[in-house]
Amino acid sequence: MKNGKTLAEKIWNNHVVFQEKLGPAILYIDGHILHEVTTPQAFAALREKRLKVRRPDKTIATCDHNVPTDNQTLIKDPLSKLQVETLVRNCRDFGITLYGLDSPYQGIVHVMAPELGFIQPGMTIVCGDSHTSTHGAFGALAFGIGTTEVEQVLATQCILAKPMKSMEVNVEGIISKGVTAKDVMLAVLAKIGISGGTGFFIEYTGSLIRNLNIEQRMTICNMSTEGGARAGLIAPDKITFDYLRNRKFVPNGKKFEEKVKEWKKLKTDKGAKYSKSVNLDGNKIEPLVTWGTDPASGIKMNEMVPDPKNERDESRRKAKKRALNYMQIKPGRKMESLPIDYILIGSCTNGRLSDLRDAAQIIKGRKVNSKVTAWVVPGSRRVKMLAEKEGLDRIFKEAGFEWRWSGCSACIAMNNDKIPYGKYCLSTSNRNYEGRQGPGVRTFLASPLTAAASAIEGRITDPRIYL
Ligand code: SF4
Repeated sequence: MKNGKTLAEKIWNNHVVFQEKLGPAILYIDGHILHEVTTPQAFAALREKRLKVRRPDKTIATCDHNVPTDNQTLIKDPLSKLQVETLVRNCRDFGITLYGLDSPYQGIVHVMAPELGFIQPGMTIVCGDSHTSTHGAFGALAFGIGTTEVEQVLATQCILAKPMKSMEVNVEGIISKGVTAKDVMLAVLAKIGISGGTGFFIEYTGSLIRNLNIEQRMTICNMSTEGGARAGLIAPDKITFDYLRNRKFVPNGKKFEEKVKEWKKLKTDKGAKYSKSVNLDGNKIEPLVTWGTDPASGIKMNEMVPDPKNERDESRRKAKKRALNYMQIKPGRKMESLPIDYILIGSCTNGRLSDLRDAAQIIKGRKVNSKVTAWVVPGSRRVKMLAEKEGLDRIFKEAGFEWRWSGCSACIAMNNDKIPYGKYCLSTSNRNYEGRQGPGVRTFLASPLTAAASAIEGRITDPRIYL
């Protein structure tokens, strides 16, 4: 087929309401997810302008960033409490369904919305949060928006947006033992850097990607934004359809089968051209961990912390020096010799059931190192409930982990779950910037398998020794 379209282009074109010749498009939005942090100003503006929410039926909300995970009902921080209470009031006043602290579906926006079946192939999805890219795992065009745009979507169910070019990240091969979707994405980021995806919607293709389950696909798409991309997406297939069957927002019976017929058409045409393509050999990907203060600094456990002196480019040399200074680690040290103080297994990247199962298989019958404080924070109440049903909570608790309630937790220093100043935390989340987990906190990003092995050893550890 000549001049075919990419998947992202097809979804985009299906949603353009109006296109100015030189300006942005007015894009229709199928689903809008809200949380307590990026919405108060938007609702205040609606009140001021006496506007209603255009499609409350296409909008859902939850609270996650400000929710404590030791005791969800006791929000000690006054600002966090106010944010959560404001969301409750706004949802009540504007007729929006809130899956809040009294709902079995409460959880991190990017964990709970897919559980409800709110995200479906071919949809446009937005949320005032950059990790909205997660939802591209369903073959949706999903991206984060700012507060003003949240107001726009609430008022009109549309957004002014510029089209992005399509980029392909192709990963062929078979995932090796001890390697997870998180490692695959750290490898992608190490290859493209933190701005390699800027200006693009990334489509992930290749045999390795196709063989991932939907939760692993969410891990991949979640971190697209760490490579600068507006969105990441994967063509929907049987794995996607099987996950969606019987979920709350998904039609049943005959209507579901009709939907599947439509969804099957959602793929990049054979003759379509991506503006940029990157290839990775999936057979060669190993467990990775970041050494620096950006998510593209992943290296193997047996590799040495790089020396900035070997960096020819001056600005990159300076950035590496600064990162090492913040991390307080010396060049030439083997990654697996570095000690850790805290472990966080959770977040919208790796807080799903399969992530907890991964970690539990290593933790079972073992003990957390006495120098380490280790937390498991399920991504949603549903993940927590399902994990408890199969006894994962007992495995973690017996090993010395704290088994907590669902929320963003120490992925972001916005709630009670703070890592103390200067401590090293190996985290399954997605960002390791300076201060992300609290002032002076030094973050290593890795997979749930690596987190589990490192919790036992008290230092960065290759999980393959336990598998
Ligand atoms: S878990 Fe972290 S990255 Fe994900 S939505 Fe919450 S704060 Fe953002």
